[in-house]
Amino acid sequence: FLQGRTALVTGSTSGIGLAIAQALAAAGARVAVNGLGTPEQIASALASVAATGSEARHFAADLRRADEIGTLLDAVQAWGAIDVLVNCAGIQHAAPLAEQPAQKWDDIIALNLSAAFHTMQQTLPGMAERGYGRVVNIASVHGLVASKNKAPYVASKFGIVGLSKVAALEYASAGSRDSGGVTVNCVCPGWVETPLIEPQIQAHRNGGSREDGVRALLEEKQPSLRMSLPEDIASMVVWLCRREAHNVTAAALPMDGGWTAQ
Ligand code: NAD
Repeated sequence: FLQGRTALVTGSTSGIGLAIAQALAAAGARVAVNGLGTPEQIASALASVAATGSEARHFAADLRRADEIGTLLDAVQAWGAIDVLVNCAGIQHAAPLAEQPAQKWDDIIALNLSAAFHTMQQTLPGMAERGYGRVVNIASVHGLVASKNKAPYVASKFGIVGLSKVAALEYASAGSRDSGGVTVNCVCPGWVETPLIEPQIQAHRNGGSREDGVRALLEEKQPSLRMSLPEDIASMVVWLCRREAHNVTAAALPMDGGWTAQ
């Protein structure tokens, strides 16, 4: 159902973003892949997205920098008007507030929050003109509830939930039920098995195995005691792109095994 559509997925050389790029491509979209990595990592990510039969191309940019975001968007828009924007690039640094380096705060806010402001500002007007558009921001349970030792991360994720609600309201009446409208939503995952959380798994091992670390993390917060897989998150993103999701907007949808019910 995404044939003829172009999607930009930031942070799609790894983890959740890569699974989203693969799933959108499998649904027919041509996908602009973005993210850091060695040339080999980028080539292998691109090959896995293109393996679905859809077109895929990598667009490099350090999204902490507004000027690079502008250049990235110009290049992608020259390739195809962006119908689906997924802001997934994100970083994390766990430390008590008093010990958070100021540079980590700046980097986390720039990438996890400000980059989404810039990409949305430059793509939503075009989506409204064409009557169809989907913005899906990968926030986190930490956009809904806090945890210790994650001051910049939690601030960035609460921020992106608020930013998304404002954008959703401003574009709520764009398009029609037939064209699909323009929606802006956040997906709020709990623990997902990706390289991002590996340091936290290791920190919870307490001298035991990696599995012990995983169990300790889950027991602390996620009642299902199961991690999500990146492709679980991706399937929710693909559903949000469907025409019949036209009235799901301004939502922050948890996929968290019950974490935020407590
Ligand atoms: P990951 O580390 O596997 O992937 C992060 C991606 O962002 C990579 O493609 C990386 O190259 C890219 N990136 C990093 N710095 C960048 C920069 N300066 N410019 C451009 N791209 C950059 O992590 P992940 O777990 O897949 O996380 C993806 C998103 O999901 C993040 O926003 C994260 O906060 C969110 N999230 C993850 C979890 C989890 O448990 N893994 C839970 C909730 C939310």
